[in-house]
Amino acid sequence: MDRIWGQAREELQKIVGANSFSTWIEPLCLNAVEDGTARITCPTSFLTDWVSRHYSDDILQVLDRLGGPVHRLSFETRAQSARQPAAEAAPAPAAPRSPARQDEELAAPLDSRFTFENFVVGKPNELAHAAARRVAEGGPVTFNPLFLYGGVGLGKTHLMHAIAREIQLRQPEARVLYLSAEQFMYRFVQALRDRTVMDFKELFRTVSVLMVDDVQFIAGKDSTQEEFFHTFNTLVDQGKQIVISADRAPGEIKDMEERIKSRLQCGLVVDLHPTDYELRLGILQSKTDAFRVQYPGLQLAPGVLEFLAHRITSNVRVLEGALQRLFAFASLMGREITLDMTQECLADILRANDRKVSIEEIQRKVAEHYNIRLSDMIGPKRVRTVARPRQIAMYLAKQMTSRSLPEIGRRFGGRDHTTIMHGVKKIEELRSADRSLAEDIDLLRRLLEA
Ligand code: ADP
Ligand code: MG
Repeated sequence: MDRIWGQAREELQKIVGANSFSTWIEPLCLNAVEDGTARITCPTSFLTDWVSRHYSDDILQVLDRLGGPVHRLSFETRAQSARQPAAEAAPAPAAPRSPARQDEELAAPLDSRFTFENFVVGKPNELAHAAARRVAEGGPVTFNPLFLYGGVGLGKTHLMHAIAREIQLRQPEARVLYLSAEQFMYRFVQALRDRTVMDFKELFRTVSVLMVDDVQFIAGKDSTQEEFFHTFNTLVDQGKQIVISADRAPGEIKDMEERIKSRLQCGLVVDLHPTDYELRLGILQSKTDAFRVQYPGLQLAPGVLEFLAHRITSNVRVLEGALQRLFAFASLMGREITLDMTQECLADILRANDRKVSIEEIQRKVAEHYNIRLSDMIGPKRVRTVARPRQIAMYLAKQMTSRSLPEIGRRFGGRDHTTIMHGVKKIEELRSADRSLAEDIDLLRRLLEA
C-alpha cells in the first residue's frame, strides 16, 4: 500500500502542481484497496470535502493505473478511522494537538487559484486590492478591521484567500485563521454542544490574523453575534489584524447589533464596485491564458473576448463559467472558437444578460454620432461616409443584440445576410488596425448600454 501510494503521490504532484499537492494531497493517506474501492484518510473534514470535490477524478485515475482496478474512492476523516485497524497504515503517530493543528481543523482550506497574481486589477477593485495588499504585507496594523464588501462574484473571497496565503508565506509562524461566518457559527454551536466553549474561545483569541468571510451570515443569530463580538474586541485590543467581508456595507446589515456594526466600521471599509468593460476584458484575457494551457491548440477568433466582456455583465463567476464552457465545448467539437459558436454555446447565459438594446436604437445612435441621416442607415447609398457608419451599426447590432444575421439584414432595408456578415467582418478587421475607430465603437457602445 505504501509503495502504491508513494508512486501515486509522485504522479499526482505532476498533475496538480507542487502548490496544490502540498496543500491537498500530501496530508492524505491511502489505507487500503478492497473490491475496487480505495479507502483514503484525510486529517480534517474540510479537507475531505474539498479533496473529494476537486481531486477525486485525478486520484481515481492514478490509483486505477497503479494499484487497479479502482472504481471508487471512499474518504474518511482521521478521527473516524483512528478506531479502525486499517489506520495502521498511517505514516506517523498522531502528534499532540498543537495550536497550529487545531487551526487547520477549524479553518477552511484556501483555494490555490485565489492568489494576488491571479487577481486582475481595474478601476472597480483597485482600492480593495491595494488595501488587501497592504494587510498582506503584514506591517504594523494600521486599519482594523479591514472590511471588504461588494456584490456576489466580485472577488471578495478571492482577495481574502490571497491575503491569507501571502501572510502565511511571509510569516510562516503567524497563525492565520480564515473561515466563513457560517463556519464560525457552526464551530461555535458545536463547542456549545460539546461543552468546549472555553477551548473555542481560547483558540479564536490566540490567532495572529482572523479572517471571516460573508459576515452578514451571522446577522440575526444572536449568541453567535455575541461571541463574534467578544472575539473581535479581544483581538483588536491585542493589535491582531482582522479582515472581514460582507455582501453590503456594515451599516446596511440588517439584524446586526448596532455596537457590532459600529465596531466593524472602525477600520477601513472598502467596496468592490461592479465590474466595468475593461476589467471584464482583462479578467477574460487572463483566464484565457490559463485555459490555453489546459486546452492547447485551441484557436480563438478575434472579437470573442470583447463580445463576452460586453455582453456578460452580471459578475465574474458567470463570466468565468461562460469561458470554461466555451473552451470545453470547442475542445470537444475540435473547432475554433468563433463569435457564432460563442452565441450558440452560451445562448442561455447571453439571454439572461441581455440588455435589450434594439437595432433601431443602435442605428439612431450611430447616425447621430457620425452626423448622417437615419434614413441613410437603411437606404442604398454606398459612399464611404455613409457606408462605414452603416457597417458599424451592423457590427454593433450583431454584438449587442441576439438577432440573427438575416433578421439584422431585414432591419437594414432588407439587405442580404451575407452583406451583414461582410460588414461585421470589415469592422472587426478595421477595429484592430484603427485605434480611433475602435474608440468610437467603444464610446457608442457605452452610450447604448447606459
Ligand atoms: P465573492 O466572494 O465576492 O462572491 P469570489 O471571490 O468567489 O466572489 O469570485 C468569484 C470568481 O471570480 C472566483 O473564481 C474569482 O477567482 C473570480 N474573480 C473575481 N474577481 C476577479 C479578479 N479581479 N480577477 C480574477 N478573478 C476574479
Ligand atoms: Mg465569497
